[in-house]
Amino acid sequence: MGAGLWALATWSYRDGIERLADQGRTDLDLYMAHLQGLLEKYEPLPELLATNPRLIEFLRAPGGRESIEALNRYLETINRISDATDTYLMDAEGLTLAASNWKAERPFVGRNFSFRPYFRDAMGGRLGRYFALGTTSKQRGYYFAYPVREKAEILGAVVVKIDISEAERRWAKAGRIFMVTDLDGVIFVSTRPEQRFHTLFPLDDATYRRIASSNRYMDAKLEPLGIEILEKRPEGALVHMQQVTGPRGHRRFLLQSRPMPDAGWQVHELSDTSEVIRDTLKLTTLAAALVATAVLIAALLLQHQRGRRVHAALTEEARATLERINLELEERVSTRTAELTRTNRRLLAEIDERLRAEQALREAQQALIQSAKLATLGQMSAGINHELNQPLAAIRTYADNGQLLLAKGRTQEVELNLEQILALTERMAKIGSQLKLFARKTSGELAALPLGPVVEGAARIAAPILARCHGELALEVPAELAVRANDVLLQQVLVNLLGNACQAIDGRPERRIRIGARRTGSLVVTRVEDTGPGIPESDLALIFEPFFTTKAAGEGLGLGLAISSHIATEMGGSLTAVPCETGACFELRLPAALIQPAHPT
Ligand code: ADP
Repeated sequence: MGAGLWALATWSYRDGIERLADQGRTDLDLYMAHLQGLLEKYEPLPELLATNPRLIEFLRAPGGRESIEALNRYLETINRISDATDTYLMDAEGLTLAASNWKAERPFVGRNFSFRPYFRDAMGGRLGRYFALGTTSKQRGYYFAYPVREKAEILGAVVVKIDISEAERRWAKAGRIFMVTDLDGVIFVSTRPEQRFHTLFPLDDATYRRIASSNRYMDAKLEPLGIEILEKRPEGALVHMQQVTGPRGHRRFLLQSRPMPDAGWQVHELSDTSEVIRDTLKLTTLAAALVATAVLIAALLLQHQRGRRVHAALTEEARATLERINLELEERVSTRTAELTRTNRRLLAEIDERLRAEQALREAQQALIQSAKLATLGQMSAGINHELNQPLAAIRTYADNGQLLLAKGRTQEVELNLEQILALTERMAKIGSQLKLFARKTSGELAALPLGPVVEGAARIAAPILARCHGELALEVPAELAVRANDVLLQQVLVNLLGNACQAIDGRPERRIRIGARRTGSLVVTRVEDTGPGIPESDLALIFEPFFTTKAAGEGLGLGLAISSHIATEMGGSLTAVPCETGACFELRLPAALIQPAHPT
């Protein structure tokens, strides 16, 4: 892009220079035509004057003062009519005999200009043409000189000096400088007054001396303008001027030169290139801006396209990823499904297995229970047998004795025997009633009961027993405690525990029984403790077994605790013997219940 812009700038610059050169050529043509016209207007005048017999006559015999004055007047007239600067006549020695400016402050008359080349040319029989700074007038002038002949003899020369400043006045154009130099490069006409009597290029010493000795430009220093040629082109040279600036302060010009051989002149034109440079810059900037805009648009389009491509690629990628994930998921799902199906099948098999195992276990349990029941039944049968056989044997003995005593008439003793028989049957009935408890299938209806009243009820039932053993009962049951139980069964358990305690304390120095209760989590613990001998540790595991008793025959059946424990379990609780310092301690645990406080009636 940079190269393209550079090429465009170069082209634009060259094109601009060419156009500048074209314009310069036209301007130069016009300017030279003007100069040509200026010179041609006066060129024939000296030749014409030279043919004037009056001048020839005068040169031959100048005559007196009057004759000179007459010629002066004549020349003055000619000069005025031809609009020349000065017109004068010189003799063969170069002395001015008559001049149009005879009345001026510093007239030419009497002055010798034989050193001027135009004079020498004229005396050589040719038209003399010369540019010089007037030694008298200090005015620039162009001289035309022509020999005045009589036959072949050259008597003198007639000279017409013209003002060349007209070639400057109207040509000072903006951005253009016109200059006319002599063959040595000395500028004597320039639209820039400060350039006059400078040289285009430095003069060598010999030339400088020659010019100085000719007095052509008086004492002008003839300093060079300081032109540096940058580039030579067919249409001219691109130059850098050290001491000349264009209207915009530029020092770069196109220098075009054209010779005017007849006049011995070089005509030059300096054209300011700043316009071209400015145009080039403008064009390049515009092009750069256009290119930048185009590049920007292209970049945006590209980006847009790339964005679309990226988007499309991403979409495609996302689609592919989704598809892959989907496939993976499907695969995973099917794998998992298969796994799950397998697991499910295995679980079903396991469940089946478990069910079978449970069934087997239940069956085994049933069998165990059955055998346990049978064992218990056997135990019980043995116990019952023992318990019932004893009173039966005793009854039999008492009955036998009764018969014998009756036969002997000892009726009082017979009565005693009958009393014994009654007591024994009472005891047997008691065993029967106790055994009935085992036959009971459930623990009876359960209800929320306030514990205090139930305990008090049990205490009342057990009062005769307590009286017998002289026991001292303390009830410490908090009123707010309630249990979920069957009141009759609960009382039975408590009465049983009180009975045991009573037996334990009987005959001991300290005979105290205490019933306390407390709430522990969702349970209510009722504690029955006595000051009896307590239970040896070895017996703790046995006391809940049916028919385990440490009591003498007739005093205990060993069923009380077994039945009580059974009842407690049936009601969702438990009965345990716990280690205790004072004597024996039993704890009855039952589910706690909420009781609405009774409204006083
Ligand atoms: P029984 O009272 O007919 O012996 P139980 O089942 O009620 O049958 O009691 C079993 C045994 O537990 C008793 O023989 C006794 O050794 C022991 N026992 C029960 N309660 C007490 C107690 N309060 N103090 C000491 N031992 C007890």
